[in-house]
Amino acid sequence: MTNEKPAKFCSDCGNPRGDEPVCSKCGSGNITINPLPASCVGKTGKIGVVIEGDSPDGFGRQVEFSTPQGGSSNSTIDGSGVMDCSINGPINIGRPNESRVLKTLKSKLNKIGIVTESVPAEDARGEDSALIIEGQRIVVQMVTVPHDSSFWATQRRDGVVISETREYAIEILSGSIAKKSHIPPDQRSSTILVLDVSAIGAIVESSIMESVRTLNNKMFEELKFYAIWVVGPTASSTQRLWPRPDGE
Ligand SMILES: [Zn+2]
Repeated sequence: MTNEKPAKFCSDCGNPRGDEPVCSKCGSGNITINPLPASCVGKTGKIGVVIEGDSPDGFGRQVEFSTPQGGSSNSTIDGSGVMDCSINGPINIGRPNESRVLKTLKSKLNKIGIVTESVPAEDARGEDSALIIEGQRIVVQMVTVPHDSSFWATQRRDGVVISETREYAIEILSGSIAKKSHIPPDQRSSTILVLDVSAIGAIVESSIMESVRTLNNKMFEELKFYAIWVVGPTASSTQRLWPRPDGE
């Protein structure tokens, strides 16, 4: 396995990638490399580029992200479930990140064959974004993970380093969903709830996603959102929590 050439593809559309700076098909600069070669770990090289793939132990996930403003994020979930993240410098979270999160969600939906069209959101009604999917108007509501303003105040001031277990990852995802349960039931059925995990992209590691689905299955069925998605920095780091995906 270690002698195999890494599989390199566009993180946003899946197009095979060589050494060209951007994807020839969609123009994205984001690359997924499996397995992530050791030479890539710890330096992204290019500004505004995401490098993602297996964690160094080969059993988890690693996502590195650098912004044009000089911010950076490096998150790893290893095979034993240890979660390490460092998030430094200026990074967009919350509202300034919403258009990028929506673009990433739309490219993921497109990849799995769901056609979307953006339509104006109604700010006055608290809508973050809106899409037409299969003829239906679907509101997109976003919540940043972790959903804790003191976490982000510390990040802005000093940067943050997280060294935690997978239980922490599961808790911050589940907690962010519970925070949005105040959306009235009649609106939830036409709302996609998006958990923005841009800054901690490795959290979409498959065993963590599966645990969040299993532990919250009852809550998801009661909430009856149109869908719940976890959106990382690229379409490859974007996973659906509910309805439970089958093999996509
Ligand atoms: Zn592409």
